[in-house]
Amino acid sequence: MGDAEINGTAPKDSIPAPLVDSTPVPSALFHRSLTQQPYKVSSAKGIYITLSDGRVIMDGCAGAAVACLGHGNSEVLAAVTAQMSTGVSYLHSLTYTTDAAEELAHHIIDGPHGAGRFGLERAYFVNSGSEAMDAALKLARQYFFEKGEGEQRTRFVSRKQSYHGTTIGPMLVSSFLARKVPYANFQGGNVSWVSPAYAYQYSNWRDGETEEGFAKRLVEELDKHFQELGPENVIAFIAEPLVGATSGCTPAPKGYFRGVRDVCDKYGILLILDEVMSGMGRTGTLFAFEQEDIVPDIMTVGKGLGGGYSPVAGVLVHRKIVDVLRKGTSSFNHGHTYQAHPVGCAATLAVQKIIRREKLVENVARIGKWLYPHLLETFGSSKYVGDIRGRGLFWGIEFVRDKATRESFPLALGFGPRFQATCFEMGVAVYPGSGTVDGKRGDNTILSPPYNVTDEELKKIVEVMKRAYDKLEKEVDEEAARQNAVNGAVS
Ligand SMILES: *Cc1c(COP(=O)(O)O)cnc(C)c1O
Repeated sequence: MGDAEINGTAPKDSIPAPLVDSTPVPSALFHRSLTQQPYKVSSAKGIYITLSDGRVIMDGCAGAAVACLGHGNSEVLAAVTAQMSTGVSYLHSLTYTTDAAEELAHHIIDGPHGAGRFGLERAYFVNSGSEAMDAALKLARQYFFEKGEGEQRTRFVSRKQSYHGTTIGPMLVSSFLARKVPYANFQGGNVSWVSPAYAYQYSNWRDGETEEGFAKRLVEELDKHFQELGPENVIAFIAEPLVGATSGCTPAPKGYFRGVRDVCDKYGILLILDEVMSGMGRTGTLFAFEQEDIVPDIMTVGKGLGGGYSPVAGVLVHRKIVDVLRKGTSSFNHGHTYQAHPVGCAATLAVQKIIRREKLVENVARIGKWLYPHLLETFGSSKYVGDIRGRGLFWGIEFVRDKATRESFPLALGFGPRFQATCFEMGVAVYPGSGTVDGKRGDNTILSPPYNVTDEELKKIVEVMKRAYDKLEKEVDEEAARQNAVNGAVS
């Protein structure tokens, strides 16, 4: 495939540009960087994003695994227009409710596809994954407060190499270290972290530890950690069923979540699953936990819920929690001005109806079955590709300097960001990752296209990723050779 097919204007052999416009345009926006201007986008349709300079980018990551229907869906547009045409764009949720919000909750909870099958019987809609995680943390705490264990239960346990959001509550239970640096002093003493369920770097693979053995060791570590804290002091254990941005689509070893659920139950500790990135179909089942043989007490969904058509996220709450509140104060002591926002819920309901009608979750599962062997075939023998992991349409590739030792590249080499930049120059957007292993070392990329990507489009994306990888491999080798020559001259 020629570059021109998806990217007519990019020079073929240019040095990968940073992911920014080079022309400094003064902006009144407080962008993520004060020195780099993001690309301006003029339009988008389906999997294609058109930049203001005319270049067309294939969206191989749906932003951050968000745009699950692709961009510019006219049915969602019609649903938003219809909702706003009623005049009801905002109402206070204390006094009013809307069909949009009620139907969205029924759509997610009821029926043969719904979360109600698992005892998750209520949905709470907010506007971001961070807000959802904040609500989940507070609800877990309120559950024990109402049970009369408020004095005791004050602690949260989560895992290293996990991300749960950017606002203060979720940040404090996260351990995406780079995102926490300036705020270290916010950290109180009531959060602790156990080892990540990340087999490629954290199992004792050198000693031949099996998947089951690794899972068992992690569950024992969690049990021991609870005992050290005094399990009666712990509110909840928090985990992503598949770790998203931090380590790159890392599924847990077989048996891990079953073991985690049992240990939590032994001590009456709640299990909060953060499916903000992995949920709502991304892994080939509506909920990622369905592939783990367990049910959470509280879970969060976000990115794929509204597919980016509205800022929306949700908390799904198990009957066990609702019942305790019902017997107690009967009200969740938490609220947002824009919770269950009518326009957001209308957009989200339209997205979810399309996903169900077009059987897109089934499509994700189907594609996942050929995509893994295809990725293995494409990248398996590449010398800097250490691990390929994921499920459905959520795949991470971990880059390492040495496949034999699984050692990462130096951070300064920037393999992950450079891989993203090279793909982008060639017309494909992938999600970048660095700090994969422990927040400081490691590189990965995430492939997470829309659920309605065609097989042809996806093969094109993978082909471009391979060309980008080959180009980067060559560059990195040439840099090393030059460095060796310099070192040789010096010594
Ligand atoms: C993105 C993400 C969040 C935070 O969601 P925002 O919408 O960015 O606030 C929380 N948890 C996980 C696992 C995420 O990937």
